[in-house]
Amino acid sequence: QPVIDLSQVTKVYGHGAGEVRALRGIDLRIFPGEFVAVMGPSGGGKSTCMNILGCLDTPTSGTYRFLGVPVGEMTADQRALLRRNYLGFVFQGFNLLSRTSALENVELPLIYRHVPKEERHERARKALREVGLTGRESHVPSELSGGQQQRVAIARAIVSEPKVLFADEPTGNLDTATSAEIMKVLTALNEERGITIAMVTHEPDIAAWTRRIVRFRDGTIESDEANAPVRTGA
Ligand code: ADP
Ligand code: ADP
Repeated sequence: QPVIDLSQVTKVYGHGAGEVRALRGIDLRIFPGEFVAVMGPSGGGKSTCMNILGCLDTPTSGTYRFLGVPVGEMTADQRALLRRNYLGFVFQGFNLLSRTSALENVELPLIYRHVPKEERHERARKALREVGLTGRESHVPSELSGGQQQRVAIARAIVSEPKVLFADEPTGNLDTATSAEIMKVLTALNEERGITIAMVTHEPDIAAWTRRIVRFRDGTIESDEANAPVRTGA
């Protein structure tokens, strides 16, 4: 069954003359283990859709099912638990705590979940190892390059073992070579760990790494196509 299942989802902001129909009846299914790029022009509805998928916003009409469960029927607390236990997020700006070590940044989601200290350290170290940051555990963000900071953010997103990782322009602040490094990390998490990934990007070279490209335009899905991933900069 799909991990994500949107059925006839609409989103309307405002009302009357100021009404904006951001999503106009979206059907989208994402299956476990997929790596999907979300593309399309500004204003097309990508952010609105990702906010709904990430349980930050709710549709005006239509249904969002996560692993078969209608998210619209959950309480706010249940949605918060779903976010915390099943979803991971990576952003363009890395959103790390600036005076906190890489290890502690990665441990943070586990502190919220009351995971005991020893297990926290162990899991955070393992996550940092997975993104290739062994030896940088005690560095604070300003001592790390942009690419390394994004790796810390990815480690933080996967330390709670999410079912789905949402990445919003994860390479938007990085140069081409560093972007390729980040895409290698995401590809490895997808292929080796089986994490389902939905990633917004404006860059065709970045979308080219994924196996499926969904294009939004004017609140509809304009195209949804399989892609043969190209691995650049190997
Ligand atoms: P992007 O093009 O990167 O998706 P946007 O400029 O569309 O970014 O939106 C950035 C943020 O501003 C989003 O979180 C969105 O909810 C909010 N936003 C966008 N358009 C409006 C608007 N007309 N009124 C209020 N908030 C908006
Ligand atoms: P994208 O991410 O593809 O740039 P968005 O989902 O941000 O597209 O925006 C889709 C449409 O919804 C745009 O017309 C945008 O201005 C509008 N919009 C987005 N967020 C808001 C908001 N919070 N309030 C009002 N309008 C919004």
